[in-house]
Amino acid sequence: MPQDDKSGASRPDDRSDIRYDAQRVESKWFERWQRDPSLYAAEANSSLPKYYVLEMLPYPSGALHMGHVRNYSIGDALARYMWMNGYNVLHPMGWDSFGLPAENAAIKNNTPPRQWTLSNIANMKAQMKRLGFAYDWSREVTTCLPDYYRWNQWFFLKLYEKGLAYRKKSKVNWCPQCATVLANEQVVGGFCWRHEDTLVEQRELEQWFLRTTKYADELLSGLDKLDGWPEKVRTMQRNWIGRSEGALVDFDLGGSVGPAGSTITVFTTRIDTIYGATSIQLAPEHPIINDLAAKNPQFRAQVDQLIAEQRKAREIGDIGEIEKHGIFTGRYAKNPFNAQAIPIWVANYILMDYGTGAIMSVPAHDDRDYEFAKKYKIDIRLVILPADGDPEETAVEPQLPFTTHDGMLVNSGPFSGLSCDEAIKKMAAYAKEHGFGKPTVTYRLKDWGVSRQRYWGTPIPMLYCEKDGIVPVPEKDLPVLLPENVDITLTGASPLALVPEFVNATCPKCGGPARRETDTMDTFVDSSWYFYRYTDACNSEAPFASDTANYWFPINQYIGGVEHAILHLIYSRFWTKFMRDLGMIRTDEPAERLFTQGMVIKDGAKMSKNLGNVVSPDDMVARYGADSARLYTLFAAPPDRDLDWQDSGIEGIQRFFARVYRYVMRNASAAHSASGGSHVDASALSSEGRQIQRKLHQTIKRVTDDFQGRWHFNTCIAAIMELLNELYGAEERTAKGSEIPASLLAEVQRTLLLLLAPFAPYLAHELWEVLGEKGSLLKARWPKYDAALAKEEEIEIPVQVNGKLRSRIIVPADSSEDFVTQNAQADEKIRAALDGKQIVKVIYVPGKLVNIVICG
Ligand SMILES: [Zn+2]
Ligand SMILES: [Zn+2]
Repeated sequence: MPQDDKSGASRPDDRSDIRYDAQRVESKWFERWQRDPSLYAAEANSSLPKYYVLEMLPYPSGALHMGHVRNYSIGDALARYMWMNGYNVLHPMGWDSFGLPAENAAIKNNTPPRQWTLSNIANMKAQMKRLGFAYDWSREVTTCLPDYYRWNQWFFLKLYEKGLAYRKKSKVNWCPQCATVLANEQVVGGFCWRHEDTLVEQRELEQWFLRTTKYADELLSGLDKLDGWPEKVRTMQRNWIGRSEGALVDFDLGGSVGPAGSTITVFTTRIDTIYGATSIQLAPEHPIINDLAAKNPQFRAQVDQLIAEQRKAREIGDIGEIEKHGIFTGRYAKNPFNAQAIPIWVANYILMDYGTGAIMSVPAHDDRDYEFAKKYKIDIRLVILPADGDPEETAVEPQLPFTTHDGMLVNSGPFSGLSCDEAIKKMAAYAKEHGFGKPTVTYRLKDWGVSRQRYWGTPIPMLYCEKDGIVPVPEKDLPVLLPENVDITLTGASPLALVPEFVNATCPKCGGPARRETDTMDTFVDSSWYFYRYTDACNSEAPFASDTANYWFPINQYIGGVEHAILHLIYSRFWTKFMRDLGMIRTDEPAERLFTQGMVIKDGAKMSKNLGNVVSPDDMVARYGADSARLYTLFAAPPDRDLDWQDSGIEGIQRFFARVYRYVMRNASAAHSASGGSHVDASALSSEGRQIQRKLHQTIKRVTDDFQGRWHFNTCIAAIMELLNELYGAEERTAKGSEIPASLLAEVQRTLLLLLAPFAPYLAHELWEVLGEKGSLLKARWPKYDAALAKEEEIEIPVQVNGKLRSRIIVPADSSEDFVTQNAQADEKIRAALDGKQIVKVIYVPGKLVNIVICG
């Protein structure tokens, strides 16, 4: 060992000639991994505990974007960590490959959707492989292929059989850009979810619906048990399902609109306030308003104005903030409780898709109604007295409006004197008894309209016979194949209707001619159950075998974007409950834990071609290597936050890898001879050695804890970087003569590679081999930390006030001055001694003493 070699020839330093050639090393391992297709295969009959980690499957748009890389890097790190912890890991990938962009591309480039889609898949799969993601490709699911979509059709038949798929004529959301129907969930503030600037229109069409509302209560109550899901996602789902208990009450129109006996049904959650109702408010799209407007063009124009205002408010996203406008219709309705005639209004703040689109307005006890009544000088009538009101002041009218539930009815006929809660029950029962209402529960959630007037989707397996009506395609005739070479148009009609060979069929009941359904299914059907298919992807007899799915489910960890918090995650929860009721699976919920990662942005904005701020994964891999691209997406921000891409950041990662590589290349042989399995005995170490050992165990603890809890991979990667600094420091000090056992440094070096393995698989595999390790790094044991060894060495420091000993504090030996002096001042005895006094200065003698000088 050179003691004082000033030439520096054999002295380790950072300017050494050892260079990390990421491209060379990554190509080498890429080739090796390609040769072993079973490398990441989950075991079929394993005695190991199972772990199912899943990232949401992508739409094959043509190329991965950085958001994908981030999502998959999180999942891949977790999968590798679980393998190293001895689990049987299922980590599959697939393609959500039906849908609109393929049709648009077909029209634009004259390429059939199937060809366009499959070539995109090939490209993205190659990208994923190059990035080193550890997927079990033997379970790949491609939803646009018949071996998958035939099971969508099979499920549709089951849904139909159970009365959960039905056809009805209804007003539907129509996007003129998509030229198809949208589900309610695909309308965002009045606009198309795909076309943020396109207002959704209403059309009347015959459509297939799935009865999602049958499970509304369970979809809601199940959320309480999903404590491994982000609270914000659960809240979004609760709001979406939108359960409210209330009552329906019919107000007689007295022949003022429609035939005699016509009524308006109002939904209210506060029937106890009905004696305070001084107007009826209708949504601008309410059928009664349409009837009135049909005969009155001027009124029609006014109503259209209200509709436009409502849309605008939805666009901003908060209907509650709308400047309230309304029009008196000149008609009256009769309150069935007191026979009073009250005016009917139409107002821009009433939504047709909530309740019945009609409310009774009780200005005394509702903020919105109050604001509206004040503006239009509508009567305000007090019918509740708050329970917490001062008894002395009961004669004085309370400040209006107030909305408390905790009160007593007044001015309410025979119901006066009841508490609100009592009145709600009694009055709903009274309405039911007298045939003008009933208690009810309403949901914002509606049944799922699944018909799409598009080509690139799963054909709905239904036939229409003149004699027999709707006839399902027999199971044995599945799949109903999607024909190829179809002329795709955007005229608003289903392209399949233009294919006579497809449309014309034989009725399986009577043998006569039948017409095939020409709409296809919403692509969200595909993603509603795809993760069950992964457990048994090649099954040609059933969607999957129950026992296999029961072994793997629920998904232990599901990872994806928060933009799927409603659509995909409600539909797939619905599908899971349906499959459970069919007896196919045991689980109630598909995923035990859900993680929603943040977006990758650049220059403060979402990456987009228009802004020219797109970072391409291919470029990053070519310039810095796959490991750098992956590690950077984990390091640059906590995974649940947005990540603002900085090229300088990924360069920093590249330098870190180069330092790891140089260190190991220089020290591998020494480590090889010194390595042993167990921890180095702490008592035999110098304080310098102990410090390194402590750092080692602290780092293992930190990375392990993060995988199990917070997932702050950014901070645990920083800790691994610090551990590398310890090795460099030790290398330098050893060169100067410090005695640090080679076996300890070997343990640190080996552990460093194990800790890096989930994040930077290429580099870790290369250096693992350099260390002379024989087994697969994927199955190497995750390092264990010793809590005692990780514990900071602590010292006791006397604390004086004006030179007089007042207390002693215990702090970690390497604490900073700030840490020690703050702890000294926070000590109870010291606080008492300082009480009310002014601190002149605080003196700290490092590791020995704190003295606080005060005056007064
Ligand atoms: Zn659209
Ligand atoms: Zn027939």
